[in-house]
Amino acid sequence: MQLKSYVQGRWFAGEGEAQQLRDATTGQVIATASSTGIDFKATLRYAREVGGPALRELTFHQRSAMLKQLAKKLGEYKEEFYKLSYATGATKTDSWIDIDGGFGTLFAYASRGARELPNSKVYVDGDLEGLSKGGTFVGQHICVPLEGAAVHINAFNFPVWGMLEKLSPTLLAGVPAIVKPATTTAYLTELVVRRIIESGILPEGSLQLVCGSVGDLFDHLTCQDVVSFTGSANTAQKLRTHPNVVANSVRFISETDSINSCVLAEDAKPGQPEFDLFVREVAREMTTKAGQKCTAIRKAIVPMAHADAVVEALRATLAKVVVGDPRLDNVRMGPLAALSQRREVLGRISELRREAELITAERIDLAGADHDHGAFVAPSLLYCREPRKAKALHHIEAFGPVCSVVPYESTREAIGFARLGEGSLVASVFTADDALATELVLGLAPLHGRLVVINRDCAKESTGHGSPLPALVHGGPGRAGGGEEMAAFVASCITCSARPFRAARRRLPRSLDGGREAPCRRIRAAIRSARRSMSCRSATASTRPSAK
Ligand code: NAP
Repeated sequence: MQLKSYVQGRWFAGEGEAQQLRDATTGQVIATASSTGIDFKATLRYAREVGGPALRELTFHQRSAMLKQLAKKLGEYKEEFYKLSYATGATKTDSWIDIDGGFGTLFAYASRGARELPNSKVYVDGDLEGLSKGGTFVGQHICVPLEGAAVHINAFNFPVWGMLEKLSPTLLAGVPAIVKPATTTAYLTELVVRRIIESGILPEGSLQLVCGSVGDLFDHLTCQDVVSFTGSANTAQKLRTHPNVVANSVRFISETDSINSCVLAEDAKPGQPEFDLFVREVAREMTTKAGQKCTAIRKAIVPMAHADAVVEALRATLAKVVVGDPRLDNVRMGPLAALSQRREVLGRISELRREAELITAERIDLAGADHDHGAFVAPSLLYCREPRKAKALHHIEAFGPVCSVVPYESTREAIGFARLGEGSLVASVFTADDALATELVLGLAPLHGRLVVINRDCAKESTGHGSPLPALVHGGPGRAGGGEEMAAFVASCITCSARPFRAARRRLPRSLDGGREAPCRRIRAAIRSARRSMSCRSATASTRPSAK
């Protein structure tokens, strides 16, 4: 099957040599992709002249209703999407995150748009600002849609959610999108886009799809366009510094790779609920999507005194994971998305092994699959006994089922190890001690996009370490790309710096707020003015103080 792009109102089969896309388990070619022959200048013009005006005719509420209708419609094809998703190496649970997670994001934006944005085409941001003594001259911020296109360049690991989490706020803002999925898993994105286009729910021109490379598209971007990139730091760097992007100050949002940490606090000893929760979470993060999540835990930072106990508990938990063909009911972890990824991940593990010892089996038996055709990597736990001397550990991201145990001697040192990632998407903290939680959160916040605090009280309802949520900002400073998606992202598509959606910061435990009781109005005002200079955009935490 040759994948087609959807550009300028029609399905287009690329010309010339096409890239072969293979089933991650069997190695069979299931599709080919090429974008050769697409006129990218005309594709951008189509978005600007056809999609943009049609979307701008609608109010926020009408666009919200459109997103809701789309989410419902896509739900009708779930079975078809799940079936194809196996080819990416995803188990049913992995696909649930990608497919249902994507639909959930559409629903979430539909509902937030209807509740929090006005039934108009313009967003009036904040109160009037008095600018004169007599009050005859005032200022007011307003937000209107950009008149260009949003170019979404996505990573291979979430072919559905990765598209919908960007598409939801973009369409809600009234901006047309050109989606370029990673080629490796583009066949699933193409199927979903096919069903979207067939539904006729979106105005023509508001969604175009490019399967294959983006050719000379970047040469034709203007200041009214926005690029939202997800992928490796190297590609981000290349695209961010494209001469036309620089010359025209094209908005560029990037989510790149990240060394995420999970910290077991000093109070969480073996036998405590938080210790068991920590072990379960690290193992889950290593094996969900075979560790191919930008938010996956790469460093499990644990008190020196409990390091051996953590290693043993993790080793035992990982040994029970059945790896193999994701189509089998008993399989808990599938292959990586492609053999090229396996080569890359194995290479990174070798580099990490110069500083850390691999303590799990290098090669494992597979259920219903073989190592020759499938891109399998065994869950790989490393133990770094001398993290103070380590370098690779804090810089190399092995984008697979790989995590290193890093022992620390003091809370301060734990914070220091996490910060060596030089900007990460997320860190989580497992503790029942509010004072330790506060110390860790405040130490980690400047270098992380999201912090998760988990204890015995909130664990059951918690969405876990690795879940980006529509209500909270997804992104991180420095190496993580410095971007922000979701929660506030609508603003990136509208020509104003202010942000219509607010993060759920009110849910932070009081200890993080210095224990002060401020009236709601004052908190909101403070959040509003502080947002632009605060480093950690969102935090999730237990709302009840925990019993020690
Ligand atoms: P990648 O090579 O950078 O590819 C990412 C996307 O960029 C793909 O769609 C790719 O298309 C495209 N691309 C590559 N070179 C390009 C160029 N010169 N011009 C335009 N587009 C170009 O990344 P990857 O190795 O596939 O993805 C894994 C990485 O993504 C990991 O490091 C992971 O941490 C990161 N990631 C981050 C997040 C996040 O939210 N922070 C989420 C998921 C993944 P082709 O596929 O056609 O090459």
